Amino acid sequence: MDLTKRYANLHVSRHPLVAHKLTLLRDQTTEPKKFRELVRELSWLLGYEAMADLATRPITIETPLEPMAGAELEPKVGLIPVLRAGLGMVDAMLELMPSAEVWHIGLYRDERSLKPVEYYNKLPDAATVQVCLILDPMLATGGSSAATVDILKHWGAARIKQVSLIAAPEGIATLSAAHPDVDIHVGAVDRALNERGYIVPGLGDAGDRQFGTFAGPSSEPGHDPADETAEVVRRLQRNLAGE
Ligand code: URA
Repeated sequence: MDLTKRYANLHVSRHPLVAHKLTLLRDQTTEPKKFRELVRELSWLLGYEAMADLATRPITIETPLEPMAGAELEPKVGLIPVLRAGLGMVDAMLELMPSAEVWHIGLYRDERSLKPVEYYNKLPDAATVQVCLILDPMLATGGSSAATVDILKHWGAARIKQVSLIAAPEGIATLSAAHPDVDIHVGAVDRALNERGYIVPGLGDAGDRQFGTFAGPSSEPGHDPADETAEVVRRLQRNLAGE
């Protein structure tokens, strides 16, 4: 089913380069070095699409030949990478917007409940940017994203967008139900979450594949599959089906 018909805030890239690079990214033979390059390239492409509606204001400049009315980006933009996998998306976004601010909010996903737990947050008292981009390669349960949006709204961010390489329908449903005003920009929507909270077919663990940390232990899902995790996923799937 085309979920963009159900969720007005969902934007799925149709760019052939995104489809091509995502396929390379998903392939289990893709090594961390290549994986990181692809995360960067995909972030660039999706960031470009996600920022297509940002406002500009007129600015007069002089070309070598004559004055002209140009444009400059109006809102201040903040990048909020979801640690740790979102870190790989930051450099590409900074290439697009060198003056963007990067703010870190640390949430980890409890392996059993899959609920987000905040462990790091050094945001100043008042918002310093108008537009926030939450960067997370995998929009899985949507719990971390919804919690991050809560924090950013409380902070005073006027506009928030989520940029992910791959999303699960369950994550889109959770984030859209909690925050229908948040635009979700993704490269692909996959079939589902499995009972361990992984997106399938997905690409595995985006953090481990970027940083080469395959040995565990890890706070990512999959190392200690519990009945509770499977139950959370089933609940998310019931929510999705019941909509
Ligand atoms: N996080 C990942 O890295 N991969 C998934 O499939 C889900 C969450």
